Amino acid sequence: MPKVYNWQLGRDMDYPYPEKHPQWQFAFVFNINRCIACQTCTMACKSTWTFSKGQEYMWWNNVETKPYGGYPQGWDVKLLEMLDQAHQKAGRQAVWDPQQGGGEQQPYGVYEGMTVFEAARHAGKREEVAVGYEPSEDEWRFPNIHEDTATGSRDQKEKFNLESTTLPAHHTWFFYLQRICNHCTYPACLSACPRGAIYKRPEDGIVLIDQKRCRGYRKCVMQCPYKKPMFRASTRVSEKCIACYPRIEGGDPLTEGEPMETRCMAACVGKIRLQGLVRLESDGAWAEDRQNPLYFLIKVAKVALPLYPQFGTEPNGYYIPPRWAPRPYLRQMFGPGVDAAIEAYTFPSRELMAVLQLFRATQRIVFRYEIVEGEKVFERTANGQTWSMYNDTIIGFSKSGKEVARVSVEEPKFIRPDVHSNLI
Ligand code: SF4
Ligand code: SF4
Repeated sequence: MPKVYNWQLGRDMDYPYPEKHPQWQFAFVFNINRCIACQTCTMACKSTWTFSKGQEYMWWNNVETKPYGGYPQGWDVKLLEMLDQAHQKAGRQAVWDPQQGGGEQQPYGVYEGMTVFEAARHAGKREEVAVGYEPSEDEWRFPNIHEDTATGSRDQKEKFNLESTTLPAHHTWFFYLQRICNHCTYPACLSACPRGAIYKRPEDGIVLIDQKRCRGYRKCVMQCPYKKPMFRASTRVSEKCIACYPRIEGGDPLTEGEPMETRCMAACVGKIRLQGLVRLESDGAWAEDRQNPLYFLIKVAKVALPLYPQFGTEPNGYYIPPRWAPRPYLRQMFGPGVDAAIEAYTFPSRELMAVLQLFRATQRIVFRYEIVEGEKVFERTANGQTWSMYNDTIIGFSKSGKEVARVSVEEPKFIRPDVHSNLI
């Protein structure tokens, strides 16, 4: 099996196809700390792409409550168990060594366990390229089962009132996990398809299922570890998130040809979502692009982390982890970068504070930003650290270099003059 380089794991790994990378890659950052689970994103996606017959239980975008919720039910717990069994059988451990590596191409250290591809090979499952399973129909029924159900309080009554909301980790906790297809660098869905019906677009890395080639074998449903391809009974073929590609291509008349963010991003009420395109080198490494907001958040500030990087597909969705959930749970979900990411988010640098203002400032994709420095407006000391806030202004530019966003760190206040223009 060919070897490919996975920078999230800091090492080469097995993948059924040799390296080949797009020019740009669709990517996004979700800030879990801000999500209110209003499901506006979910409904924006559903009312755009999956409102027809046979798509009733198909939620390309879903927001689930962790730790108990999942769509399909228990998807990540099942995958983790399968990987764990594979490691036990092989006498290996799914551990990270954060001391090894460092730098751009190994930011989280080295993952020494097996990915879903390597575990399948090790188990001698010739017919499968990745370990996985096909969820039952029942497991697809609820997009947010166990909504708002917290863990911890029942067993910890005496601590419930006193310590349940004390950082660094709450004793009673849950959080919302927002999920779409990750348009992975090494998609398991694509490599699983015996028909060659799944492809990754060379211009933007979006992963699509060719509806004419698909015969509904459901290998993609089985082997995507994130369970994002879905089978449609009415057409007998599989479907998945298409990253709103007509919008990314600039096909929406609103933006006059400029690339536009997806529906789920643009609709986000909590302003937790920022989506863009990152430029790639021919070997798949991210081209240095310091002023691209995604490059800054993921590669420079390291505040946003991949979801279950140990699966090995190099997902292109990144998350700012929630500050209040127990660290071991978060490390399992986002890898060893969790502590540094939470530290960076708790005491944001001046630049990070400005870049965070770009979330939902515009529907157009921001390719570059500039910051105009403002005055210091606030200072506080916490945990022995002094943190200052500056009223800087961040300006976002579109692909063609047009200004598309201008936001200050401090929200401007407008005070109405004391006149009564309406007496009703
Ligand atoms: S998340 Fe799943 S469906 Fe999406 S590209 Fe990755 S492997 Fe394929
Ligand atoms: S629209 Fe935004 S805030 Fe609302 S559920 Fe979706 S991601 Fe969360």
